[in-house]
Amino acid sequence: MKNVLYLVIPCYNEEEVLPETSARLQKKVTELIEKKKIDQNSRIIFVNDGSKDRTWQLIEELHQKDRIFGGINLSKNRGHQNALLAGLMTVKQYADMVISMDADLQDDINAIDEMIDKYLGGMDIVYGVRSSRQKDTLFKKATAEGFYKLMNTMGANTVSNHADYRLMSRRALEGLAQYGEVNLFLRGIVPMIGYSTDVVYYERGERFAGESKYPLGKMLSFAVEGVTSLSTKPIRMITGLGFFIFIVSIGMLIYSLIRHFMGATIVGWTTLMVSVWAIGGLILLSLGVVGEYIGKIYLETKARPRFIIEQFLNDEKEEME
Ligand code: UDP
Ligand code: MG
Repeated sequence: MKNVLYLVIPCYNEEEVLPETSARLQKKVTELIEKKKIDQNSRIIFVNDGSKDRTWQLIEELHQKDRIFGGINLSKNRGHQNALLAGLMTVKQYADMVISMDADLQDDINAIDEMIDKYLGGMDIVYGVRSSRQKDTLFKKATAEGFYKLMNTMGANTVSNHADYRLMSRRALEGLAQYGEVNLFLRGIVPMIGYSTDVVYYERGERFAGESKYPLGKMLSFAVEGVTSLSTKPIRMITGLGFFIFIVSIGMLIYSLIRHFMGATIVGWTTLMVSVWAIGGLILLSLGVVGEYIGKIYLETKARPRFIIEQFLNDEKEEME
């Protein structure tokens, strides 16, 4: 085994961070090669997720200057998860291990050493886990914590405080390739692959330039996506809710009969209105959740491609002119 490492970094409008990120990663990977921890054919691959700024030009320039850099250009913006998958699936044939991370270097790149050590020690998947969120804003901290709680109670088992900073061996990636789903939530799928896994702790820093591409709206839809694409627990919860309401309505029936026979039959308009609205709301809510799944079935049956690669810059491949 040669221990070829590929880093995969999805980038969406990251022109502000790329120069710094590429410099730091280049230094890191070169050091690792010098220490003979990884093979000299190791690479840093940036996946351009349909950026509107100069991100792809920068990636091309990097590739021109140093062949340690490679690039994958997606035909359009497909979102973080799909961009990441595109990168992983494209490089898995060249690498023995692949580490995925964000372009803004919020994940401490010094954790890479430890990840590789665990890989060499026989682990197939090594999760990067944030040891604290001191540097995050209070708002981000609270919403992120809520996110993991929600995910777990809804039946989507994820590694807590782990984003998409992780090492995967080639065979773990081969495993991932067998999950053909369109509604992709990598954090939920990777733990399903199995094999021996471990975690590495690191401090999460601040984004050093540019701004977050995950505003609250995107984060909420990511949570809904995560839950509905991983588990059918919400459907079961509707059944439970329906059962509960049925019991309550029987109770109400008995109660109103007793009131009737006692002669106190001032049947209130208020009660009627309240219950009509309550039931109406519940029905709508339930329909919404059911609809969420039907939407998923619709998308899965279409089996659309999850990404389309426009160009792949990598040493082994590009000598075709
Ligand atoms: N990203 C992407 N496509 C998108 C949105 C984001 O490839 O549509 C990338 C982005 O360039 C970054 C990573 O996903 O490398 C995480 O995004 P960001 O740092 O903005 O998220 P946050 O850290 O704020 O959760
Ligand atoms: Mg970030």
